[in-house]
Amino acid sequence: MKVSIVGTGYVGLVTGACLADRGHDVVCVDLDRRKVDAINAGRAPIHELGLPDLLEHHVGTRLRATSDLAGAVAASDVTFIAVGTPAAEGRIDLQYVEKAAAAIGEALRGKDGYHAVVVKSTVIPGTTDGPVRRALEAGSGKLAGPDFGLGMNPEFLTEGQAVADFMNPDRIVLGGIDGRTHALLEALYEGFEGAPRILTNPRTAEMIKYASNALLATSISFSNEIARLCAKVGGVDVVDVMRGVHESAYLTSRSAGGPPRTAAIASFLQAGCGFGGSCLPKDVTALAAQGEDLGLAMPLLRSVLAINAAMPEELVRLVTKHVPDLAGVPVSVLGLAFKPDTDDLRESPAFPVLRRLRAAGARLTAYDPIARPETHPDLRDVRLAASLEDAVAGAEVVVLVTRWAEFQELPALLERLGRTPLVVDGRRVLPPGRFARYEGIGRETEGSA
Ligand code: NAD
Repeated sequence: MKVSIVGTGYVGLVTGACLADRGHDVVCVDLDRRKVDAINAGRAPIHELGLPDLLEHHVGTRLRATSDLAGAVAASDVTFIAVGTPAAEGRIDLQYVEKAAAAIGEALRGKDGYHAVVVKSTVIPGTTDGPVRRALEAGSGKLAGPDFGLGMNPEFLTEGQAVADFMNPDRIVLGGIDGRTHALLEALYEGFEGAPRILTNPRTAEMIKYASNALLATSISFSNEIARLCAKVGGVDVVDVMRGVHESAYLTSRSAGGPPRTAAIASFLQAGCGFGGSCLPKDVTALAAQGEDLGLAMPLLRSVLAINAAMPEELVRLVTKHVPDLAGVPVSVLGLAFKPDTDDLRESPAFPVLRRLRAAGARLTAYDPIARPETHPDLRDVRLAASLEDAVAGAEVVVLVTRWAEFQELPALLERLGRTPLVVDGRRVLPPGRFARYEGIGRETEGSA
C-alpha cells in the first residue's frame, strides 16, 4: 500500500520505517527540513534502537521524506497524522493536528480515488470524528464516509524500544467511521499477524489510548504515595514492600515446572522520582481536563498528577536532609532523559530537580549517556560531563534520576576513585550497602548518613 505520514517524530518516523520494512511504500512528511534531509541521507534524527538499520535498508527504495504534504497525499492511498499533541494551559493543544488535517483536506480536493486519513497522534475522545473530520471536509469539499475514509489508530510504542514494539505489537486498535476504513486499515496491518485486533469506532480507539496511559501513570503515583508513606513511617523499605506486592498471584503467575512470570505492569509499580516524557504527563492532564470540561470531577487523575509533581521535591529533600546548605556544593545529576534508552528530554523529572538544586545554590553537573542537548533553558549554568567518571569525580552529592544501566557501575567507580559522596537514588536501582552515604526514595532509615 502507498502510505504517507504527516509528522516525522518518534511515532511518525518509527511507523514509517516499520511499515516500509513490512513492504509498504512510505513517504514521511515534516515541516522540519533538517529531519527531512537527515532521513533522506539515511540518518536517524532521533535515538532509537534498530532505527538506523531500517533507514539504511529502506531509504531510497520504499522510504523517503519530504516537506511537500500535498504531493505526498496525492501519491498515497492512506495518510497518517502523527504530529505532536502537547498540553497547553492544562488542556490538549490540537493546533498541529487541526493544521495537518486542514492541509490534508486541501490536498484531497483535487485527488481522484478513495483515500483514508488516519489519526495516530494521541487525541482526546471525539477529536477524529469532530475537529479532524470538520477540517478534512472543509479543506476537501468532500464527505467523510462516502468520499474518503477516516480512522483512528493509536500508537502504544515505548521510546527506547519503539521499533521492537511497533514490529511486535501487543494489540492493534483500529477505529474507523465505517467498514471501508476498517478494511483498509486491516489490509495495512496484514503483515502484523498474532496481535489481537480491536475493531471499533474512533472515539473508543482514542479512549483506549488514554485509559492505557492513565493506568500506567496511576500505578506509578500509587507506588510513590506508598513510598512517601514508607519514608514517613521509617524502618520500611518500599523496594521490599513492592517486591512483596509483585509476588501476589494477581501479578506473578506460577505454572508447574515453569519459572514464575511477573506481569510487565509490575515495572510501573515501583517507587521513583516520578513519571515524565512526552506522553504520560500531558495525556493524564488532557484526560482530566476533558472530564472537568464535561462537568465531571476527576479526583483520581488529579491526585496522580499532584503526587507526581511532588516527587522531584522529595528527591531534593533527601539531599538537604544531609547537606542543608547547598550553596557552592558540587552536585551531579545522573540522567537527563525521562527514561533510559532514549534521548527524549520532554518533561523529564531531571529538570525540576535541577531547578530546585540551582535555587538552593548548588554547583551543578549533569551527565546522560545519550541525551546531550546543545541548548536547554534548565541547563544554562550546568556543566555537562563527558562520562560517568567525569560527572562524579568531583561531586559531593550524586543524584540519580534516570534508570540508565550504565549507572550500575557507580559503586565500583566510586570505590576506584576513593570518593564517598552522598548518593541519592531517585530510582532505587543502586545497592544501598555499597555506599558510605546513601538515601533512596521510599526508604528513611534512622540515622542514615
Ligand atoms: P514529535 O514532537 O517527536 O514529532 C512531531 C513532528 O510533527 C515534528 O517533527 C513536527 O515538526 C511535525 N509536524 C508538526 N506539524 C506538522 C505539519 N503540519 N506537517 C508536517 N509535520 C508537522 O512527536 P511524537 O513524540 O512522535 O508524538 C506524536 C504523537 O504521537 C503525539 O500525539 C503523541 O502523544 C503520540 N504518541 C507518542 C509516543 C511517544 O512515545 N513519543 C507514543 C505513543 C503516542
